[in-house]
Amino acid sequence: MIRVSNLRKEQLVQSHECRIICDIKCGFSECEHLWISVPEEFGEWLTDDVYDAFMIAMLYPAMYYNEELVVDGYVSEKLYYNVMHSVQDCEKAYIEALSNIKISVAGFATAKKVDNKVGMGFTAGVDAFATLYDRFVLEENPNYRISTLFFFNVGTHGGGGERARAKFHSRYNYILPLVQELGLPFVPMDSNLFDFYKFEWEYDAGVLCRAFGILSFQRVLKRYVVAYDYSFWEIVHLNNADYASITDMVNYHNLCTEGLDIITDGTQYRRSEKTEKLLNYQPFQKYVNVCVGNGSTEAHNCSKCGKCRRTLFSIDVLGRLDDFKETFDIKEWEKNRYLHLCRMVRDQKKDIYAADNLQLAKRHNVRIPSIVEAYIYIYYRGVIRESKRMLSSILNKEPKCS
Ligand SMILES: [Zn+2]
Repeated sequence: MIRVSNLRKEQLVQSHECRIICDIKCGFSECEHLWISVPEEFGEWLTDDVYDAFMIAMLYPAMYYNEELVVDGYVSEKLYYNVMHSVQDCEKAYIEALSNIKISVAGFATAKKVDNKVGMGFTAGVDAFATLYDRFVLEENPNYRISTLFFFNVGTHGGGGERARAKFHSRYNYILPLVQELGLPFVPMDSNLFDFYKFEWEYDAGVLCRAFGILSFQRVLKRYVVAYDYSFWEIVHLNNADYASITDMVNYHNLCTEGLDIITDGTQYRRSEKTEKLLNYQPFQKYVNVCVGNGSTEAHNCSKCGKCRRTLFSIDVLGRLDDFKETFDIKEWEKNRYLHLCRMVRDQKKDIYAADNLQLAKRHNVRIPSIVEAYIYIYYRGVIRESKRMLSSILNKEPKCS
């Protein structure tokens, strides 16, 4: 059994932070508390009268370990109903080892609301920029116009622990000047969720990690906009699209409460269309941050990882590399451009972004190598790399002259 109890708010005087915290009893972590913290000026925004966020946080571990979840407090009736009748089955459909579990709660209540903000998580990636542009820069309806940006530490910075925390802070500080220019509040939310989660649950339970963050701010939010990665086109046309990513859309809908609407945005565009749309938006040129590849805790684009390369490819095809020389290493990209193109040709049937980028290239009359040419070049580059590695290993073994 997993028990969640004693939800309370605490001030951390020394670090000028405020947090909500629950006691957790379980057999799979030595940690006894799950918390969310924000700078003290945002302390009043945290929801401390219902357990919605904490029930969602412990849902995936309970399903994974097949244990009853006991919540010693009130939760949203709507959220509870949807978790019992849809969210669990949706998770189980793609992670078959999970179990449907019983959840006991003390009763139902709706979180007290003190404000009606429209929030959004902002990471400075292509999806986030596209939604910011449409739902903030261009949006005229105040009920849907984004009024606050959030930045969560719930697994996407490399799981948990101090290294992920350092990256979380570094990425936040990288984007902060942009958000200040836009005149929006930018709320950094730290947590110790991954003291209870396995590393890969960031992918397996990503929607629940983010809902944990979103629900903890329902005291001030009436709506939260999630920048969605897949487009309707990809969902309809590519059978091999990642099931988890498709079902996230359904899950977000089912993770709403009586007073909080979570909506997805961006499905109207394919990835290359988002990049094309943003090319003339200067904040995008100056701050776009898509990298997942560099091993350091610094926030910069390595220009080598899959996400950097697929973004650079679109920018390159559209003839705008010069506008991005501050945010990417263009020389590094140009060394590997053809290799990346060949890999996309090889992967186009299983990688939706490769298929999308190749179609963009065709529309712009870029010569696309045949599948045979692509395989030969990838093999050739592999041989060169392996030869270099062997040569360097032999040279390093040579006795050194004194
Ligand atoms: Zn990268």
